[in-house]
Amino acid sequence: MEQRKVRVRFAPSPTGALHMGGMRTALYNYLFAKQHGGDFILRIEDTDSNRFVPGAEEYIIECLKWCGVMPDEGVDENGKVVETPSEKHPHAPYRQSQRKPLYRQYAEELVKNGFAYYAFDTPEEIDAVRKEYEATGRTFIYNHTNRMNFKTSLNMDQSEVERRLREENHWTVRFKNPQDRVIKMHDLIRGDIEMNTSTLDDKVLWKAADQLPTYHLANIVDDHLMEVTHVIRGEEWLPSLPLHYMLYEAFGWQDTQPEFAHLSLLLKPDGKGKLSKRDGDRLGFPVFPLRWTAPSGEVSRGYREDGYYPEAFVNLIALLGWNPGIEQELFSLEELTKLFALERVIKSGARFNPDKAKWFNQEYLRRRTDKQLAQEFRPLLREHGIRDEQFSDCYVETVVSLIKERAHFVNEFWDLSSFFFEAPSEYDSAAKKKHWKEEMIPAVKEVAALVIASDDFSAEHLEHLIHNHIEQNALPMGKIMNMLRISLVGASKGPGVANIIALIGKEEFERRINKALC
Ligand code: GLU
Repeated sequence: MEQRKVRVRFAPSPTGALHMGGMRTALYNYLFAKQHGGDFILRIEDTDSNRFVPGAEEYIIECLKWCGVMPDEGVDENGKVVETPSEKHPHAPYRQSQRKPLYRQYAEELVKNGFAYYAFDTPEEIDAVRKEYEATGRTFIYNHTNRMNFKTSLNMDQSEVERRLREENHWTVRFKNPQDRVIKMHDLIRGDIEMNTSTLDDKVLWKAADQLPTYHLANIVDDHLMEVTHVIRGEEWLPSLPLHYMLYEAFGWQDTQPEFAHLSLLLKPDGKGKLSKRDGDRLGFPVFPLRWTAPSGEVSRGYREDGYYPEAFVNLIALLGWNPGIEQELFSLEELTKLFALERVIKSGARFNPDKAKWFNQEYLRRRTDKQLAQEFRPLLREHGIRDEQFSDCYVETVVSLIKERAHFVNEFWDLSSFFFEAPSEYDSAAKKKHWKEEMIPAVKEVAALVIASDDFSAEHLEHLIHNHIEQNALPMGKIMNMLRISLVGASKGPGVANIIALIGKEEFERRINKALC
């Protein structure tokens, strides 16, 4: 058989924010497509109008953009879902709600060929039967065991069927799930899988009420029409796989049926259960790539707004479930594209570790130059009222070089370095209580005078000067250094005292010392 061009799709339903697990699905699809020189398609699966959430589609595309994994097909340069076919987007529209007229014929074809049937019971009538089952302790499955008790085209005259199709508007097309058939399937991550159809229900494929297909029909038809070769999606879809296999068979599309890979779940940090937004809120980390405001007004934090670099976020989600088989942990998108292999995606759930997530960002932060970091720091400085012209780039770069080792995020820089930009307005009481000794003030003043008299204001020289003086006069090093630090910083934190003095300069040093010691 001729080798087909690899085509994969990310097919989210716009029902809310994209979970980081969903973003990982998109990433793996992207990596797989790029690795094989194939196409990465975006398709919006919005046939369930009850679950549609305004803004979710734009949000999903923004997430893809932020992570640098924009689809080749389905979205235009402006980040809009493509609605009219063109050479680059031949299968438009890529929003299923806009493909509505297309699906009915496929549902009808299945009925005509005996793979599906019309079902006329209303949801209320079916619900009543379900309740009856439950009242007698039985589980209700709509399938071969009971389908003949319902009003369907399987047990009705053709003329009656036609009348109902014309006059009623709540009928559905259901798949006629075979009895006791073993479906043999293959998953690229999980290997061979078998399932007996007897436990499955006759899934609804199309609904007259809204003239729309359900997920199953639309998904299969579109994957076929869009020539998708590999379906990489979350494991919550694994139970649907037998139906999907049977649909490919019923349509006679087995030759071009895609290969499947179902990705395991992301697990809570303690490994017990699926990672949810509530875990994030409880343990203080985001589960969405970007901040999300729900229609209720509830705001959820995002990796981007929390200060993560997209490269770090991509790196960390790539490794949640994929084991590269080597020691290396930091990978650029290009490296991931080269190394990624579905065969090395783990079958079990991947436990999320929020500390490790921060570690990734710290590593990416450390790989940036001081110049880059200083530029990233500027907006934060402005937010704190520090104008660009007050401090040179060189100054900000030196500050950054002194504090960056301690930071996981640029948004921590202000707390780590505010004293380089403004004098402390107050002194931390705990630090003062612990380290401030009135009887040491004359000794500290002596050191300060020595510093002020120095012409050489380099950190090395000042360090030498201060230490020598303290040692030669047998003064308590720790006490003096702590008091100097509190005077300059306002707290017991920050890089080396000599570095601070060298950078803020003589005048500012003198001002701060005078204020603190008087
Ligand atoms: N619309 C489905 C979802 O939201 C897509 C599943 C699939 O990729 O087949 O997850």
